[in-house]
Amino acid sequence: MCSVRVNIRNHYVNQYGLVIANKIRRLEDLMTKRARYVTSLNFLKRCRDHQLIPTCVKISTKKDIRGSAKILNQASKKLLRTVIQQKRFDLQIINNTIDNLSSELKTVLTTFDFNNCIETLNKREISKHNECKDKQIEKYQKLTIKSNAKHPCQRRNETQQPLTTDANNKQRTVYNLSKETLDEPTIRVLSKGLNFAITPQKIPYEEIICSVEDCLFKNNIGKEDLEAIRQDISSLLRRSSAPKLNLPKDEFKALYNLRNRPELTILRADKGNATVIMDTSEYNFKIQQLLSDVSTYKKVKIDPTTNTLKTTTDLIKKYSEKLNLDVNSTIPSCAKPPRLYGLPKIHKPNAPLRPIVSQIDSPTYKLAQHLAKILSPLRGHTRAHTKDSYQFVSEIKDLHLADNETMVSFDVQSLFTCLPIEDCISIVTRKLEDNNMPTEYAVLLKHCLTSGYLLWKEEFYMQVDGVAMGSPVSPVVADIFMEDFEEKALLTAPVNPRFYKRYVDDTFTILPSDKVTAFLNHLNSINPKIQFTMELEANNTLAFLDVLVIRNPDNTIGHTVYRKNTHTNRYLNGESHHHPSQLATVGKSLFQRARGICDRKHLAAELQHVEQVLQDNKLRVPRLRHSDRVKPATVERVPAVLPYVRGVTDKVGYILKRASIKTYFKPLKKIGQFLPSVKCHIPLQDAGVYKLDCECGLSYIGQTKRSIKTRVKEHIADVKHRRIGKSAVCEHVQDRPRHYIRFDRPQILAKEHRFLPRMIREAIEIKKHPNFNREDGWVLPSAWDPIINKIKSKPKYTTARLQDTVSSFCRHLECSSTYRSRNFWKDLDSPSSATRH
Ligand SMILES: [Zn+2]
Repeated sequence: MCSVRVNIRNHYVNQYGLVIANKIRRLEDLMTKRARYVTSLNFLKRCRDHQLIPTCVKISTKKDIRGSAKILNQASKKLLRTVIQQKRFDLQIINNTIDNLSSELKTVLTTFDFNNCIETLNKREISKHNECKDKQIEKYQKLTIKSNAKHPCQRRNETQQPLTTDANNKQRTVYNLSKETLDEPTIRVLSKGLNFAITPQKIPYEEIICSVEDCLFKNNIGKEDLEAIRQDISSLLRRSSAPKLNLPKDEFKALYNLRNRPELTILRADKGNATVIMDTSEYNFKIQQLLSDVSTYKKVKIDPTTNTLKTTTDLIKKYSEKLNLDVNSTIPSCAKPPRLYGLPKIHKPNAPLRPIVSQIDSPTYKLAQHLAKILSPLRGHTRAHTKDSYQFVSEIKDLHLADNETMVSFDVQSLFTCLPIEDCISIVTRKLEDNNMPTEYAVLLKHCLTSGYLLWKEEFYMQVDGVAMGSPVSPVVADIFMEDFEEKALLTAPVNPRFYKRYVDDTFTILPSDKVTAFLNHLNSINPKIQFTMELEANNTLAFLDVLVIRNPDNTIGHTVYRKNTHTNRYLNGESHHHPSQLATVGKSLFQRARGICDRKHLAAELQHVEQVLQDNKLRVPRLRHSDRVKPATVERVPAVLPYVRGVTDKVGYILKRASIKTYFKPLKKIGQFLPSVKCHIPLQDAGVYKLDCECGLSYIGQTKRSIKTRVKEHIADVKHRRIGKSAVCEHVQDRPRHYIRFDRPQILAKEHRFLPRMIREAIEIKKHPNFNREDGWVLPSAWDPIINKIKSKPKYTTARLQDTVSSFCRHLECSSTYRSRNFWKDLDSPSSATRH
């Protein structure tokens, strides 16, 4: 080869002279260089795409500084990108030079010689290219192996078995019961769970200012400190920008599409934390089927809310002195009817729904909460009572079973709907007397338990039987009733069980094997409404709460964590936009449960399981800390509750910490809140801050502790009766022909039932929107001005004329008929008119 090369070169030297021969040699060098550069560039690009750092750009320190690895890794990645850029640039220059040289040679050499020359050089370039490529592939493989060894878990998810783990997870956590086939991004996003928080795309300045001001107001802080804190937070907010979205674009898009599909209902399963997709028509049909049970529900024509609220208010006022009730905190200012929804039991055939009633903001909700607190100490004093699974474990661990004994669990069938209310009330009254407590509580309790009703699709149903579903006091009453029941049952039982523990409606019992049926029959004979089912030990095990009790071969008792086979092992996803401490709680509580429930034999396996589960949920294994660490003494301050925005509100928390104020963070928007709710939506039935637009571009901002709907109706009445002195809205439209208030489109700016945050929010919104309010409301400190200027909105002038709307009706009252006014109320009441906005 070498001699051939020399011969060729000699040929060119002889034929064309030394200068030209050298030029040919230079071309050859450039072409081999090009081969090297192309392969090297491919290698670097491949590294970049697979998040690998090649040795040539790897930055490291000799000292191991905490957190340095991440910084250096980022720097190395950046360097890699720069090197790639540089290589591309160099390659461009080489290409240009090659082009120039070859066109120059073409003019000098004969066509035969030129073609011959180029062909030879091309062959050389290709062989060089292949040689380099092999080297680079080898290098890349070595790099992958090294990286895998370093981060076993991270790599494994990405490269080795992405399909198996991911595919299994999705199958277990997302159940599509609808007729639709869902695409891959949709399933992927739903598999993250409905409690997955999405990164906010805008910083919620208004909410942050409200929370900070609310908290500063409630704490007694010096004037100078106050100003310093506000200035610091304000300048921090001005500098901040929203964090990066924690969902891939296709998943975010899928979520948006899902939100606009009313024919699909997305909800969680009854148990096991799975996500279920149902056809809305089928969901509605199943709820309607539940409601058609006349022994439990009775349809009524009128909304019982006003009546129930009145009775509740009267009762509270009547007993407020005697029972020392705080009237303001027990009577809701903005009552909503209890709303029914259902959760599918996916592991039963045909997935029936479990009915759930949301009592939040219902007329009796706050009173029931108060009663639950009062009545709670009346229970839990019997031998059979067990507080939780930890107490249960400590009680069983030293037991020995006899050969003729068996473990059995008795369970009341649908306890809440079967509870006899009269019996419950008399038991509670007796207990109140025994404890020297006022028996008037029983009257209030009776009202809470019997005023069960619910709303479903604009129709109201009274609950005929059982205690009010979803009421916070119902579980306490059920527990008190069961305590009384079991006392009677155990006294008269044909056989006294050696061991008997109960948690609400579930029991764990040890009985002689031949007496089990007799005991069950005895339990079922006491009250015809309270009927039990039983479960015997199987394979020497029996589950109670989340404990699996195991009969060891030597008749001692073992115990470990019990998970139903419907359990998905899905917890809060580690990528969710929650505060890191909230993410860490998942791991901590799982480890705590493992240590509290497992015996020595089963602990290792359970800990390993928890570690795997955390990894599958992309959560970190929590670091062990010394729990007996002494915390520094702090001044008692009202804590702040801030929406969590990474890199923004956590820093606000640090600023507040300087004034010894603790901060709690709540996630801003979860996937479940992003999708339409399964609970019935009642438009404008909330306390908060609202905006009424005028067609001239200005608006009126108002706030109310009652429902916004009520307040808007009052505004309309003010305009109707021309109460200029009372109403700024009336003054604005009075005698101005082109001004129409859009009463048909009140906008909710914020739902807020607390007084101070609502006032602050109103003041912010007044500064934000061009308005015709007569007053500015709450005086906002000037430190926030730069932030509010940043979010200020411009007046929107609309030219579209309205035909026959509420505004025209309100404005030109003289010509409006009663028929139209009645229609308007109906329109405002129906959910469809308001949900559009
Ligand atoms: Zn106007």
